[in-house]
Amino acid sequence: MASPAAEPTIFSRIVAREIPATIVAETDQVIAFNDIHPQAPVHVVVTTKSQRYRNVGELAAGDPALLAELIAVAGRVADEHCNGEYRLVFNTGESAGQTVFHVHAHVLGGDLEEGTLAAQ
Ligand code: AMP
Repeated sequence: MASPAAEPTIFSRIVAREIPATIVAETDQVIAFNDIHPQAPVHVVVTTKSQRYRNVGELAAGDPALLAELIAVAGRVADEHCNGEYRLVFNTGESAGQTVFHVHAHVLGGDLEEGTLAAQ
């Protein structure tokens, strides 16, 4: 869990519209935007507006309803952009490829190459 004094993450800065992103879905607590370095024809980051939870395990333990909302938004993004067929990736920890420590899912879709197991 981030401390209250933590610097805003890059995703919090997108939520605050301090840096630009192509936003594809938004609810009161969740936001989805195109990944700046797409690894698939459709590659959308879905994240909580709050940076309280660093990864999916923390979010599941701390606010399961918010995790369910994040996954619902991911499904709607996939319905709209890749016929509801998609891979959902949560990287947890540096060695697993996590670079932004603000819980988020990668929605990957659209003719994925076989073996595309990670977003990075
Ligand atoms: P992860 O490596 O799982 O932490 O995922 C972080 C993702 O955020 C990477 O796929 C980055 O390409 C993406 N990303 C970083 N900065 C931005 C940005 N300004 N706009 C959109 N996506 C970003």
